[in-house]
Amino acid sequence: MNDKKGTLSDTNWGASTRAVWGGEPETGPDGVTVTPVFHGVTFGFANLEDWRAVALGERPGHVYSRNTNPSVAVFEDKVRVLEGAAAATSFATGMAAVSNTLFTLLSPGDRVVSIKDSYGGTNKLFMEFLPRFGIEVELCDTTDHEAIESAVAKGCRVLYLESPTNPTLKVVDISRLAAAAHAVGATVVVDNTFATPINQNPLALGADLVLHSATKFLGGHSDAMGGVVCGSTELVKRLYHFREINGASLDSMSAFLLTRGIKTLELRVERQNANAMKISRFLAEHPAVASVHYPGLESHPGHAIAARQMRGFGGVLAFSLNGGYEAMRTVVDALRLAHRAASLGSVGTLVGPPAVTSHVELSETERAAAGIPESLVRYSTGIENADDLIADLAQALDGLAAD
Ligand SMILES: *Cc1c(COP(=O)(O)O)cnc(C)c1O
Repeated sequence: MNDKKGTLSDTNWGASTRAVWGGEPETGPDGVTVTPVFHGVTFGFANLEDWRAVALGERPGHVYSRNTNPSVAVFEDKVRVLEGAAAATSFATGMAAVSNTLFTLLSPGDRVVSIKDSYGGTNKLFMEFLPRFGIEVELCDTTDHEAIESAVAKGCRVLYLESPTNPTLKVVDISRLAAAAHAVGATVVVDNTFATPINQNPLALGADLVLHSATKFLGGHSDAMGGVVCGSTELVKRLYHFREINGASLDSMSAFLLTRGIKTLELRVERQNANAMKISRFLAEHPAVASVHYPGLESHPGHAIAARQMRGFGGVLAFSLNGGYEAMRTVVDALRLAHRAASLGSVGTLVGPPAVTSHVELSETERAAAGIPESLVRYSTGIENADDLIADLAQALDGLAAD
């Protein structure tokens, strides 16, 4: 884990300055200006006294890469300063970050409250795994703040939130719900993957821990997987300890790629925010489009909360079409400037319908009950030029009219 507060991690800096300089050693080996991939598994010492001091944490240094590694430490510290946290620790994937967090904080007999619209893998932990360990899970309607508050008021160890959510971009009021959770002594965890630290800082809104799938916007190039959690030194120490023992550590090559990606995070996210806004406005006016889900639209039910707690509305939107699954298939297959693929947050636009990606295991009726029409498309805009993406969507939607 990483809780250093050195001169190269000044939280008064702007986001890009933090992203570029945060966590970087003042001088790298041989003066190199890019922190290398430290492939070494183990680190040697001149004598046993030095080794003992590092092993006990009395002196900075690294012992074994399952625990800490210099390439990984730079990645952790960049995210730490971007989230304005005291400490951060990293994981092999986003799901490793989610599951390590929940299994560190929860014990048999505990209760956790969350929302129905959590990420698919997280929802599986709530429905399938945590109950096996005697943990009571209550999942509330995502935008019913009164229901979440009364579930929390019954007592819980953890309140676990996401905002905006996947795939319909619902928005929850983080400070309101964090206050309710703190009144019963619960720990508040927020998955900030969709928003990124450029658009939203849950710790500043009252959360105790913020986590990311770094695989998405933080890395930003769909070429490395990782996860990260930031918060107080005390909480992050507990997470780090569980992770060093269960072994879901981030490897140094992925850390290097994620670190390189983060340096351009603000530039990418600003472009993606702008693209998603323009595309949402275009789609909202199109006669073939039934609905557009984007918190930046004034018509979005969570717009007022989003405008309060976010600085930008993010790069992901979703839309549904008049004409059901077949209309959606026609449009998605006709797109040229989009990978038909899972995931989100990359420099290249990614599209996928929940009916064949995140919600493929549900029946059509179950998807409808979850508010996911068969014609829904999740559209994660890349950094391409908005006019080209809109022209591409226009030609794909025109194909529909011609049918
Ligand atoms: C992708 C994602 C995860 C899981 O991350 P992986 O890196 O794929 O394990 C968790 N939460 C959200 C919101 C995600 O989008």
